[in-house]
Amino acid sequence: SLSLEDLTAWLTAFAREVDAQEALLTSLDAAIGDADHGANMVRGTRSVAQSLAAQTPRTASELLLRAGTTLVSSVGGAAGPLYGTFFLRMSREAGAVTELDARGLGAALRAGLEGLVLRGRAEVGDKTLVDALSPAVAAFEGEAAAGGDVAAAAQAAAVAAAAGRDAARMLEARKGRASLLGERSIGHVDPGSASAALLMECLAEAAL
Ligand code: ADP
Ligand code: MG
Ligand code: MG
Repeated sequence: SLSLEDLTAWLTAFAREVDAQEALLTSLDAAIGDADHGANMVRGTRSVAQSLAAQTPRTASELLLRAGTTLVSSVGGAAGPLYGTFFLRMSREAGAVTELDARGLGAALRAGLEGLVLRGRAEVGDKTLVDALSPAVAAFEGEAAAGGDVAAAAQAAAVAAAAGRDAARMLEARKGRASLLGERSIGHVDPGSASAALLMECLAEAAL
């Protein structure tokens, strides 16, 4: 199962990975958006990592709440409120526990995705981060239901997120700034899908 230390390691690794991939996220958003996804995500994930390092949360709910509120308040643009909502809903589902098993984390991820979808109104196929997160959550739940531990479930989720990101490349964007480009968005990787795939990759690493 995933301890508070593991959850912190997840979000700290995400901040590090976003930092390392900032130029890529920026260039993806330059092609079909406004070239700020790298900077937006660096600002938000760095703030989350700093907050968790400064004060250790006592429960999974508290930790995820901190991540969500920090992302909402530190990131302008579409991605901040969307990722923020994802973690806020995860927090509510996780509860005042100090570790999450595969089923518990699966339920929290599902709640987070549902919250994000309610907020952004994007469906799978609209070429948004939902295209990476939705198959990832389904893969996580599937592995957990089959008796897999958190590490196996998170690994399955990371693979599914990357596949979702890659599949969305040839789609036309129907939500967010990229939708303004219509057919010209086809052939470009969605920046939010790329950062969401990183989030799942970091979860798989933290769960090992
Ligand atoms: P902005 O578009 O405001 O500059 P970012 O560049 O940080 O914000 O984030 C853009 C990403 O947000 C997109 O690549 C897409 O994945 C995601 N996104 C935009 N609108 C939505 C939405 N309504 N639902 C889900 N995801 C969305
Ligand atoms: Mg942008
Ligand atoms: Mg912007």
